Amino acid sequence: MALVKFGSYEVQAATEERQELEAGSAAEFMKLKPGRNVVRVLPPPQGKRSPFRTVYQHFIQTPTGPIVFVCPRLEKKEPCPACQKADELRGARNEEDQRLANELFARRRVFTNCIDRAEPEKGPKVLGFGKTIHEQLIALREDEDAGGEFTHPISGFDIIIERAGSGKNDTKYSVRPARQSSQLHEDASVMQAWIDGQRNLDQFARVPSWDELRDMMAGKKRERGEAPAQDRRAALPAREERKPRKSIGDEAFDTEGEYRD
Ligand SMILES: [Zn+2]
Repeated sequence: MALVKFGSYEVQAATEERQELEAGSAAEFMKLKPGRNVVRVLPPPQGKRSPFRTVYQHFIQTPTGPIVFVCPRLEKKEPCPACQKADELRGARNEEDQRLANELFARRRVFTNCIDRAEPEKGPKVLGFGKTIHEQLIALREDEDAGGEFTHPISGFDIIIERAGSGKNDTKYSVRPARQSSQLHEDASVMQAWIDGQRNLDQFARVPSWDELRDMMAGKKRERGEAPAQDRRAALPAREERKPRKSIGDEAFDTEGEYRD
């Protein structure tokens, strides 16, 4: 009989998972305020090569309010009802359907752990942003003369993110390095605590099941045994019913409203 290879679910791993879940629920998000924001991006935790985690999220208005979820197609190559609906609508001729299709497309969001220099006593916060900030941070890392390894706890440097405008369509972000390198913190034990206290960003990439998604998009909890909703488009309210995004989106993410490339 061939040897069967398998791993073992150690109690240590279970404990780490529980701690991660508990930590995740308490994650503090940083919101970029108009004007100047100074942040220090924390170095990637051991085993990771980047301080960033990119996810593709759908932001959808439903009759019961806005919902946000990670796109199963882009995260796990699984079927996604929002992408399917967007593809259907994109083929349509009329402008309203085209507009709905555009709203349905997933947006790229990037998460990182950082120290908000305005409130360092709060420890690591999660910062979410879109393409413009991400691209500027990548460019800074690649430019060894003007930037470099900004997450290094000793020789790295703070990042200044300037936010101009506050509306959905007039908000602009510029990213530049602080002029001088600085330590993450002068006290090595604080640095270690911050680095170890980072949130596991993979928690933001959790993909809901198809059934969960369909119910979310229909804006309801489906009773067991009930036939699945036939007309998902009915779940999408007309333009005048749309309200600015509240709670989940505004609390958790700094919304740039950008489309996926
Ligand atoms: Zn999708």
